[in-house]
Amino acid sequence: LFAGEVTFVKGVVAMSGLPDADRPEVCFAGRSNVGKSSLINALTGRKALARASNTPGRTQEINYFDLGGQTFLVDLPGYGYANAPLPKVEKWQALLKQYLSGRATLRRAFVLIDARHGIKPVDEEIMALLDSSAVTFQCVLTKADKVKAAERDKMLAQVRTRLATHAAAFPEIVLTSSEKGDGIATLRAIIATLE
Ligand code: GDP
Repeated sequence: LFAGEVTFVKGVVAMSGLPDADRPEVCFAGRSNVGKSSLINALTGRKALARASNTPGRTQEINYFDLGGQTFLVDLPGYGYANAPLPKVEKWQALLKQYLSGRATLRRAFVLIDARHGIKPVDEEIMALLDSSAVTFQCVLTKADKVKAAERDKMLAQVRTRLATHAAAFPEIVLTSSEKGDGIATLRAIIATLE
């Protein structure tokens, strides 16, 4: 999967723009600044790949990447911007709902959580939406290099407790550092099994 060519397919702003659902896909969601672009870049081994999705104008799009012609990797817009105007937030929420409930080929959502901050109310909202859309989701803790072992273990326990309350949650939590490379191979292997 990741050995093949990874390419940017398109940015999508409406359901009508989605590419044909002709292969399995996984999506990545997380609060803005959680480290989503860095993680996607680390996973794909392309330094600048997901940067496009962080440039102004691109941030509200669902960005599609192709992994070796076999699987789509879907970068959902970051949520929880402090100053996002309400109409924009509502438009994005509506598209997200349609996407999550209407994409039959979506195999799993990865919900990124900053290992220093843990699960916030906006993350809970996304998880509730995933529950109601019956999309299996898996938590990925990011920036693991920024926390000490004790803090990390406390966070893992907190996340584990929260996940137990979500019907669509996959129990295994993936601890990652895009900076150090921790968990990247594990995450690649998980994605490779979801075909
Ligand atoms: P996004 O908004 O979720 O796409 O987040 P970015 O990938 O742009 O990362 C936000 C900030 O966190 C940037 O300053 C990154 O350099 C930093 N960052 C991302 N991942 C890591 C990581 O694994 N370790 C550390 N120490 N910093 C990270």
